Amino acid sequence: MNRPDPSRSDSSAGTPKSGGASKAPAVDFIRAIINEDLAAGRHKTVATRFPPEPNGYLHIGHAKSICLNFGIAEEYGGTCNLRFDDTNPVKEEQEYVDSIQRDVRWLSFDWDDRLYYASDYFDQLYEFAERLIQDGKAYVDSLTADEIREHRGTLTEPGRESPFRNRPAAESLDLFRRMRAGEFPDGTHVLRAKIDMNSPNILMRDPTLYRIRHASHHRTGDQWCIYPMYDFTHCLSDALEHITHSICTLEFENNRPLYDWVLDHLPVPSRPHQYEFARLNLTYTVMSKRKLLELVKERRVNGWDDPRMPTLAGLRRRGYSREAIRSFCDRIGVAKTESTVDLALLEFCVREDLNKRAPRVMGVLRPLRIVIENYPVDRIEEVEAINNPEEPEAGTRKVPFSRVLYLERDDFREDPPKKFYRLAPGREVRLRYAYFITCTGIVKDEQGEVTELRCTYDPATRGGDAPDGRKVKSTIHWVSAAHALPAEIRLYDRLFNHPNPAGGKEGDWKDHLNPDSLEVIPQAWVEPSLRTARAGAIFQFERLGYFCVDPDSRLRALVFNRTATLRDTWAKIEQRQ
Ligand code: ATP
Ligand code: MG
Repeated sequence: MNRPDPSRSDSSAGTPKSGGASKAPAVDFIRAIINEDLAAGRHKTVATRFPPEPNGYLHIGHAKSICLNFGIAEEYGGTCNLRFDDTNPVKEEQEYVDSIQRDVRWLSFDWDDRLYYASDYFDQLYEFAERLIQDGKAYVDSLTADEIREHRGTLTEPGRESPFRNRPAAESLDLFRRMRAGEFPDGTHVLRAKIDMNSPNILMRDPTLYRIRHASHHRTGDQWCIYPMYDFTHCLSDALEHITHSICTLEFENNRPLYDWVLDHLPVPSRPHQYEFARLNLTYTVMSKRKLLELVKERRVNGWDDPRMPTLAGLRRRGYSREAIRSFCDRIGVAKTESTVDLALLEFCVREDLNKRAPRVMGVLRPLRIVIENYPVDRIEEVEAINNPEEPEAGTRKVPFSRVLYLERDDFREDPPKKFYRLAPGREVRLRYAYFITCTGIVKDEQGEVTELRCTYDPATRGGDAPDGRKVKSTIHWVSAAHALPAEIRLYDRLFNHPNPAGGKEGDWKDHLNPDSLEVIPQAWVEPSLRTARAGAIFQFERLGYFCVDPDSRLRALVFNRTATLRDTWAKIEQRQ
């Protein structure tokens, strides 16, 4: 069996590691528990599960849980099931089931033939519920929802028993069967566990196990009109699947006694244990499917896969690779204390990965036309450009060069400030892979706006070096106007302009939406080698950032999403610390 090396023990789990820090998963507290369980012979193999509710698309927080559950299974030679926790027919849909499977696979994890649905266990769960009633451990309560809430008490006051709590088991059983048969409308009865109305843990004050809901389920149709609650379903599903370590987020800590109570009072085929870890929180975004659904429904974003969304579908469309996301999950580690991770760390992981892999190309976002007056009108040259300096095997490509080019408007200043080394009147710069050029004239429109530059080139500097050894202070990118392809470029900024949009007391979290999170450049120009680029392909536009071909792209109408700029804010933060 392949186990993690305990010598890599990591006391700083949960704090982001910088730069090229260790890639191997450290031994966090969950892996330490598993190691102990295996050493003590409590388990021979490890079985985990990832249990999403299909009520929305997965987000980067789910990726943490996926990497943990599937990652542990991989490392220990165990198994990880994908199980849909589909007990709430009102909110769940097949579209979400499909997207969740796509996203887990995209992260390169595999559940083999272990795809399960809690709804597959409805018959068995129903039998378990009858068993609890017969054993005097559950009863049908006929109070209204409001009355039940009133009876529940508060953190400081104990609860009160329902007048139906001690109705005979036979009566509860009869009512429960009639609930199932559809004799009662929603909300008239519930099945409750008989535990302790005085428990300091409110969840243990006779929690609801089943409720009536006359609603069609995306898998079981109209077969059921009563549905089991999460707390009843989850632990039993784990037990039925022989899960050894049931890993969930900290907000379920108070549910653990109930998890154990259910399993202790039923003849289950295995005895799983629940362990809780801190969920991932990320700055400048929200991470709850309910909130993300609101953004989608209110059209604040363009769907679940909008590249500004923290969903895996959105990040993928934005150009974030699975490698970057998995590396991010490794770096943040697994701990028991809540913390918020800086979005800049995720961006760092993306840049680190793309720097290694993304082919370099040239594109001009905000074009300024230049005419090289001493370059022959009809001549077209092909200059040789390096595809990826980080990967010599990636080779070179030919880029057409001609008399009329586009440069980035930002790379020219008529009146350059100090330390501006790029193009200016009378100044010489290098065009990447091509020639030295000198700006000799400016053409302006009636408003005084610069519309074109006149330049000369030095034919002796082909390839970008002067034989006389003279230097220039700047190298800038360009495209040949006659050959470049038009492209729409979508630039993204953070979705919220508040580091913790959902955390504030005052105001609506949606008030913190960043109105400038999307800027569209309708016509930029990119080099012609991109003609055949497929949706999903990612490039580094030299000096500008990483850009990913959007599925909206059509032949001769390319669309790119900016994945990330080149500026690495995380590295700067690190330096300051
Ligand atoms: P949300 O509030 O976003 O809907 P959820 O917990 O209700 O999240 P589920 O579909 O129930 O969503 O989650 C499936 C699994 O993913 C659960 O085990 C849950 O603990 C885990 N998970 C959800 N959000 C996070 C997060 N931010 N960080 C780590 N794990 C998470
Ligand atoms: Mg949930």
